[in-house]
Amino acid sequence: MITPPADGEKITIQGDKLNIPNKPIIPVIEGDGIGRDIMKATRRVIDAAVEKTFGDEKKIVWFDVYAGENANAKYGEWLPQDTFDAIREFIVALKGPLTTPVGGGFRSLNVTLRQVLELYACVRPVMYFEGVPSPVKHPEKMNVIIFRENTEDVYAGIEWAQGTDEVKKIIDWLNSTFNLSIREDSGIGIKPISITGTERLVRKAINYAIEKKHSSVTLVHKGNIMKYTEGAFRDWGYKLAAREFANETISEDDLWSKFDGKMPDGKILVKDRIADSMFQQILTRTDEYDIVCTPNLNGDYLSDACAAQVGGLGMAPGANIGDHIGLFEATHGTAPKYADKDMVNPGSLILSACMMLEYLNWDDAAKTIYAAIQETIKKKTVTYDLERQMEGATKVSTSEYATQIIKNMK
Ligand code: NAP
Repeated sequence: MITPPADGEKITIQGDKLNIPNKPIIPVIEGDGIGRDIMKATRRVIDAAVEKTFGDEKKIVWFDVYAGENANAKYGEWLPQDTFDAIREFIVALKGPLTTPVGGGFRSLNVTLRQVLELYACVRPVMYFEGVPSPVKHPEKMNVIIFRENTEDVYAGIEWAQGTDEVKKIIDWLNSTFNLSIREDSGIGIKPISITGTERLVRKAINYAIEKKHSSVTLVHKGNIMKYTEGAFRDWGYKLAAREFANETISEDDLWSKFDGKMPDGKILVKDRIADSMFQQILTRTDEYDIVCTPNLNGDYLSDACAAQVGGLGMAPGANIGDHIGLFEATHGTAPKYADKDMVNPGSLILSACMMLEYLNWDDAAKTIYAAIQETIKKKTVTYDLERQMEGATKVSTSEYATQIIKNMK
């Protein structure tokens, strides 16, 4: 059994909001491989920013919980019940990357955590820091937050391999019942998209837009082809906005038919784009997009495509969020060849921890870190991954990079 630290307090749920004490206990999964280096660096940066911003008034009380290799060493299992219990009880947690054990009985530890804790929204902000090498001319125009559905779509894991007895049964049944002609040598996958899954995601995205004063929510779908899954996602999204957020939102149709294209003050525009067109628009009309809300597969593609415009995955943060629980994590993996070398970029995990601070409504501490990262990159003091793409940059270790960020906090 693990014991929570005695000097912190529990985050609690009040109505549909979180009640955040001044010294919240935050469970932390260090992670495997480079997780050990980047988590140390991240904790130092977060602690320094909270102290700089709030003095003695606020403090994160970290609570080490086990998952992956350290759990296997301590408990003889990769994802112990204690860890699930701690995250459920303390509600907000930070996580480093985990190796997927081969033959461990899981599809992936990360997927298992998301499924067991019902973390249905994968939230990925994509922002630009001046000076980071980018393949586009105006990377500074990119500033979106992607809300990707995390539980449904072709990721539901319902599929049958070509040539199996099961797939033969499915194909025979489909062909005979619906008079189809699916080839006998096909594999089959199922794409479920539900009202439940769609509404809880769109609701979360709109609530976030309201709370953090964003200007638009774009539903990205491939509804012209997949009418009853992706098209339904769009329709259910618009209906939910009209039903639950009539005072706060306006649809693009209403904007033109009732307001001649002029946004009424204080409203959030709800619009939709077909996925293929969105990939073009995010390159050509980047600054027209703000919050993006989309089914699982589109979200997977789109978040990497957006991240590429601002310098790649090394700087891309993420979170998996349910009704209340938030698990904040780097988007990259454990990069085993760099493990324990104090070498890699902790940026993705630090920025994920900034999202966590914003989730706690400690936005000022997150702002302190954003400004300090910007300053550090401007001074061209960076880890190897950025240094190799920047002219005249100084390469520093993971820990030294964190030290520089802390020094640059104002
Ligand atoms: P990876 O760990 O993301 O690493 C791939 C490459 O990305 C690295 O070799 C490195 O590129 C670059 N990279 C990743 N993190 C970096 C950082 N912090 N700073 C600088 N560069 C970074 O992907 P992988 O090698 O495919 O996966 C390794 C393990 O991680 C697998 O067991 C996988 O299951 C797991 N994984 C876990 C998560 C998660 O926990 N959420 C996510 C993805 C993968 P260069 O070699 O070019 O320097």
